[in-house]
Order: sequence, then structure tokens, then C-alpha cells
Amino acid sequence: SCGICVEKCPFDAIEIINLPQELEDEPAHRYGENAFSLYGLPAPQEGQVTGILGPNGIGKTTAVRILAGELEPNLGRYEESPDWDDVLEAYRGTELQDYIADIRDGEITVARKPQYVDQIPNQFDGNTRQLLERTDERDALDGLVERLSIGPVMDQAIEDLSGGELQRVALAATLARDTDFYFLDEITPYLDIGQRVTAARLIRELAEEAGKSMLVVEHDLAILDLLADTLHVAYGEPGAYGVITSPKSVRNGINEYLAGYLDNENMRIRQNPIEFEEHAPRTATHGDVLVDYPDLTKSYGDGEFSLEVEGGEIHRNEVLGIVGPNGIGKSTFAKLLTGNLEPDTGDADLNLDISYKPQYVTIDQPMRVDAFLSSITDQFGSSYWNTEIAQPLQLERIMEQNLSDLSGGERQRVAIAACLSESADLYLLDEPSAHLDVEQRVQATSAIRRYAEQQDSTVMVIDHDTYMIDLLADRLMVFDGEPAAHGHAGQPQPMRDGMNEFLANLEVTFRRDERTSRPRINKPDSQLDREQKREGEYYYAP
Ligand code: ADP
Ligand code: ADP
Repeated sequence: SCGICVEKCPFDAIEIINLPQELEDEPAHRYGENAFSLYGLPAPQEGQVTGILGPNGIGKTTAVRILAGELEPNLGRYEESPDWDDVLEAYRGTELQDYIADIRDGEITVARKPQYVDQIPNQFDGNTRQLLERTDERDALDGLVERLSIGPVMDQAIEDLSGGELQRVALAATLARDTDFYFLDEITPYLDIGQRVTAARLIRELAEEAGKSMLVVEHDLAILDLLADTLHVAYGEPGAYGVITSPKSVRNGINEYLAGYLDNENMRIRQNPIEFEEHAPRTATHGDVLVDYPDLTKSYGDGEFSLEVEGGEIHRNEVLGIVGPNGIGKSTFAKLLTGNLEPDTGDADLNLDISYKPQYVTIDQPMRVDAFLSSITDQFGSSYWNTEIAQPLQLERIMEQNLSDLSGGERQRVAIAACLSESADLYLLDEPSAHLDVEQRVQATSAIRRYAEQQDSTVMVIDHDTYMIDLLADRLMVFDGEPAAHGHAGQPQPMRDGMNEFLANLEVTFRRDERTSRPRINKPDSQLDREQKREGEYYYAP
């Protein structure tokens, strides 16, 4: 134990080797005696995108409320309530001095995109156009609607939008405002890679062209890398204390995070580094064949959307990644496999028990988490189940809560646990990364992998987080076509071939970071981008 925790460390993996120096200083804010304390604050800069990388519950919202002027930081002296002049004095000579002077003078205005877009329909009654029109302070709405492809849903009721549509509408609504400071709490859930890259560009443009201060929390590391100019890493003990580091370069911040060790802070935040393979895995899995499915087709309505699936094999014991844009038929394929949908042609009667986690998790019965999970498996509570499922998915702290009270990230973890706890031949997870913070993604990834290996089970994962797919998948199935019109599903193929095909469709190339080999998105039309496209090597080092 690191000695600071007020309760059991939620990540057994984390061993803080020395007390952070910041903890000997005053916090920026402490909610009360023995209550959460926040050390350090992010420093938004005009004309720049500042990123925050770290777990949920570490004080990011608290920091933003301070930077928005809504919460007066008490510098840890919760009994005396210092005023803004005292705060300014405490930050004199730091990057935040001018910013805090502006807050004190009431000169900061803020626009915010909430983390859980799924909740927007509870707060707004009306259609997309009505929601967006109220926000168009910069006369920028038409451009945003076009670039985020919102046009087709302008007259649709907000309550009928999908998660990906809500995410894009929420982004447009935030970026159309005219304020000094923009806070975006996660931009990628439910968006495909193309949409993620577009969202990142729009945020960068607002910083570069309009000189705005952008602060972004993002857990998709490839996108965070593309998006931010500087990065604060947040660490600590969720719920007890959080430390926001001084700004780092984005490259160093992400590399240190992946290595599990923060250089300047001299702080270990994870026992093991997260490692990527520079070259494609040499041997594709040659496991037995679990299932051999034939060519399939399926269309909806009068053929508004049609899907063609090339027959293929799924190997026993493999993790098969599934990638492709939104609206291309991935969920339709999943439903064909599970038997929830009948194909128009081809026989998908696979005789398999499939455990399926849908993209939009809707478990919200008035039932406790422990009761729900123990109704799924009699392994519930066994030491094996605790080690392999409950612990990596951080379920211990939420076992006694009601399903209906869970946050988006908590609900996702319960749904992944429920899916893996079923006894089945094939586990199919649709966007397990949504709303998980980086640390939870890492832990969920290793839980899914270990589970596949130890249970002799086969897993299919649909996800848009490149790092997660890279760390999880043995082979890849690529969907292409024209979203909302027609989709084509190729056969499962080795990672290198699959990544090349998928990224060629997107016209995106990745290079490798020298220190960690992690994939980084190349600037379009840079020398490397052109070279790799010429050689057809979009992802792995040639
Ligand atoms: P994040 O945005 O990183 O998820 P928050 O800033 O929302 O984190 O919360 C950090 C911690 O502070 C949480 O444990 C939360 O329960 C606690 N907290 C938030 N607001 C208050 C408050 N008004 N009083 C006491 N504790 C609070
Ligand atoms: P993905 O999972 O790749 O995002 P989906 O399989 O969910 O794609 O959807 C593919 C297309 O089919 C989309 O245009 C979607 O609107 C449409 N679609 C999905 N389900 C239905 C349905 N039950 N009836 C009519 N159209 C549907």
C-alpha cells in the first residue's frame, strides 16, 4: 500500500513508490475534512489545445469548475474559504496567473460538452435543428453541420438519435458557441475513426484560427496524440485525491503514461508498461475452426441498406477484431451471427451459443449489480471470477449500487463482465471501450485477452480505438462500402493485411514512436504519409 489510500487501492497494480511532492504542498482544493483533494490545475492557453490524460474520479470536473469560475478553490483551507485574491496570490508566477486574474474579474466564459451524451435526450425535448440553432453564436453552424455530417438528422427528434449522432450534435453545439474557454469531456465515444479525426481537426482549428483555449479529456490515445498541443497527466487515488501534473509535451506525456512511469514527477503509476508490436505478429493463429460461415446477405426496408458478407472462418481461441465506419453493417452482422436477425440469403444457423454485448448498453433495471451478476453465473464471487473479472473491471466498489444509478463507464464495465460471465462458445463485444478511461481500457483489454486464453473461448470485438484493437486482436475483419447505403464484410485476415486494407480505405497512415513503438497518426501529405501510401504500409513498419 502506498500509505495514502483511505480505502483499498482500486488498482492492485498500482504501487506508488514515493509520496508525490505535490502532496506535501497545499492542494488547489479540498472538499472538506477527509474529502477529495485536488493537487495542481491544468493551464489552458489561448490558441492551444490542452489535453488531460487520466482516470475518471481524479478531479477533472473539479478542475474545470474552478477554471470556469464556478468553484472558488480553497487551497485546502476548507474552513477559511480564501477568496480569488488569495488564490491569485498563490498562483503568482505560474502559468495560471493571468487566467486566474481573468476569472477573478469575471472575464471568462465557458462552453462545455458533457461526457455522457446519452443523457442529452432527458434534458432536451425537440429536434436537432432547434437544439443547434440556440448555440450558433459564431455563425459557424452550417460548416459544423456539414463537416460532422449532421444534415440527414437535422429534423429528427433528439430522442431518436443514435449515440454517434448525439455525440456529433453535442460537438457542433459546443463548438458553435462563442466563448473564451471550451471544455470537451471525451469526444470519441460512438464515433468511427473518420469522425474522430474530423472532430479532432475542428477542435484544432478553433484553437489555431480563432485563438480559443481548448481543454480536452480524451481516452483514445491515437486521437489525443493528434489533437493536443500539451498534455497534463492526472493520477492519484480516484475518489481520494488527484494530482494534475505540469504540462508535458504530448509525446512525452503519452509515452510516460504507457511506460507506467512519470519522469519529472519520479512516480510509478503502473507496474507494467503497455507495449505495442512494431511488426505484425509473425504467426497468425492456426487454431481449430470454431465456425465456418457461408456468404450472407441482408437488407432492410426496400433495400435502403444492404449488407454482403463474404463467408469465412472463425478460429477457436482467437480474438477477432472487427473494424469499419459507422452505419456499414457491423451490428447487423453481429445480429446475423446471434440469430437475432434472419439473413435474406445464406444460412447463418451456426448452432453456437453466443454471448453479446451491444454497443448501447441498456441494463438499467432497479436491481443491484451483485444480484444482476450472480443471476448470470454461479461462478460469481469465486476467487477465479474475482481475479479474472471483478478486479480488472473494477467492480468491487459498485457491487452494491443499483444498475439504474450507474455512470456510463460503470455500466459499460458491468455489461462487459456480464457478457464474459455467460457460458458461451463465442463472445461478441460491440464497442467495449466506450466511456472507459484509459486505465480501464487497459485493464478491460487484458481481462478480455486472458479470458479468451484461459477459457479456451473465442472473442469478437468491434471497436474504433486503434490502440485497443491493436492490443486485443489476433486477426481482423474489415467492413467497407458506403455508410447507410451498402456494406461489404471481408473475410477475417491477418493483422497486417487487415490494418492495411482498413487504413487504405480511410487514407490514414501511422508511424511508430521511436521510444515505445506505439502507433501515431501521420499528418496527411507529410513525407512519411506519402511514402507509406506508396508502399502500401499503412500501419506496421515496413
Ligand atoms: P472526474 O471529473 O475526474 O471524474 P470529479 O472532479 O468529478 O472527477 O470528482 C473527483 C472526486 O471529488 C470524486 O470522488 C467526487 O465524489 C468528489 N466530489 C466532487 N464534488 C464534490 C463535492 N461538492 N463535495 C465533496 N466531494 C466532491
Ligand atoms: P454499424 O454497426 O456498422 O454502425 P448497423 O449494422 O447498425 O451498422 O447499420 C447499418 C445500416 O442499417 C444503417 O444505415 C442503419 O441505419 C440501418 N439499419 C440498422 N438496423 C435497421 C433496421 N432494423 N431497419 C432499418 N434499417 C436499419
